[in-house]
Amino acid sequence: MERESEARRRLWLLRDEIKQCVDYQFFYKHYCINARFSGTHLHAHCPILAHAHSGRGSPSFSVDLHRGLFHCFSRNEGGDCIRFYQLMHNASFSRAVRELARELGISSTRQPSLAFYAAPDREEQNQTSVEPLDHERMRVVCEAFLDTCRREDQTEGISYLVKRGIDRRTIEQAGVVYFPRRAYRRVMRRMIDSFALDELQQSGLFNKQTHLTFYRHRLLFPFYVEGRAVYLQARTTAANVQPRWHNMRGGVPALYNVDALNKLATGAVVYLVEGFTDTLTLVEHGFPAVGLVGAGGFREEWLGLLGRFRVVAALDGDRAGHHAAARYEAMFAARGLRLTRLCVASDINDFFRHLPSAALEFALMTEAALEEGDSRPKAMDD
Ligand SMILES: [Zn+2]
Repeated sequence: MERESEARRRLWLLRDEIKQCVDYQFFYKHYCINARFSGTHLHAHCPILAHAHSGRGSPSFSVDLHRGLFHCFSRNEGGDCIRFYQLMHNASFSRAVRELARELGISSTRQPSLAFYAAPDREEQNQTSVEPLDHERMRVVCEAFLDTCRREDQTEGISYLVKRGIDRRTIEQAGVVYFPRRAYRRVMRRMIDSFALDELQQSGLFNKQTHLTFYRHRLLFPFYVEGRAVYLQARTTAANVQPRWHNMRGGVPALYNVDALNKLATGAVVYLVEGFTDTLTLVEHGFPAVGLVGAGGFREEWLGLLGRFRVVAALDGDRAGHHAAARYEAMFAARGLRLTRLCVASDINDFFRHLPSAALEFALMTEAALEEGDSRPKAMDD
C-alpha cells in the first residue's frame, strides 16, 4: 500500500515536471497539420483519430499555448498535454507520463530537477496567500540580488546582447546583469543568507519550495528610478524556454530607463519604444529612449514625466503596436500633449542591425514625422 502511493506520488511529480519543461507550441504543432497561430492560441483541424472527424469543415481544435490546454469544440473534449498524449497514442496515464518524461529527458527514478524546484509559484497561489513586499524592501532585495549576480561571470550574458547589436558600454550603463546556470545554487545561498525567507518569497525571488525562481531566466534588466533599482525583469538566453521573461512580483512600476529623462532639456525628443533591446539600441545610437514592457504597458500616471518633451512613439509595427500607439495618442491629447507616431518597418533592433545608415535615416524619419504630425503610411493600417 505504502509503495503504491509512493509510486503514484512520483508519477504526479513527474507529470508536474513535464508541464514545467514541455514547449507547448512545439509539442502540439508536432501533431497538427496546418496549425495556425493567433496570439497565445493554436488552431487546427482536430488530430485526435478517436474523434473520427470527417476532415471537412472548419478547424475545431484549439490550444491555449500559455496554459498548455487543448480543446476540441466539435466533440467537446479537452485537457492537458498528458491527456492529449493519451488520446493520440491510446495510452494509459502512467504510460503517457513515462513516455513524455523520457522524450523530454526527465528521469523517473531520480529526484525532480532544479528547474522543477525553481519554477515560479502560479499567480493564483500567490495572490491569495502572500502579501506583496513594500516598495522600500522590494528595492533592497532587488539591489542585493543584482549585486550578488554581478559577482558572477558575466561573459555569456554580455555576448548574448553583443550578438544582438548592443555594445558593452551600453550594457554596463544600463546595469544589465547576468549569472551562469552553474552559479545558481551559490546565488540562491547568498540571498537566503542575507534575507528572511518570507521577504524573498514576497518579492517573487523565491517560491514556496524555497528556491530562487530565476533559474531559466538569468539575464537581468533592472528598472532604475532616481538611481536605485526598484524592480527587475529577466530574460532567458536559451532558444526553447517559454515564457521568455520572468519578473519580480507586482506590476512594472516605471518606464524602463526613466532616469534618462532627468538629464534631458525641455523640448528634447524622447522615444517611447517596446522592450529593453529596442530601448538600449536607441540609447546606444544617441537617441534618448524609454521602454515599455509590452506594447500596452503605458500607464497614464507616467504622462507627467513626459509632458516637457517631444515624445515619439516607435512601437512595433504589428497590430498590437498600432493599437497601443493610437490609444496613447488619445491619452496624450486628452492632456493637451502631442504624441508623434513613427513607423519603423521592422523592429528597431533589426533596423539598426541591418542598415549601416540606420542612425541617419532614423533621425530623418523622426524629423519628417514631427513635421507632419503623423507619419504612418496609410497602407500600414492593418
Ligand atoms: Zn476532435
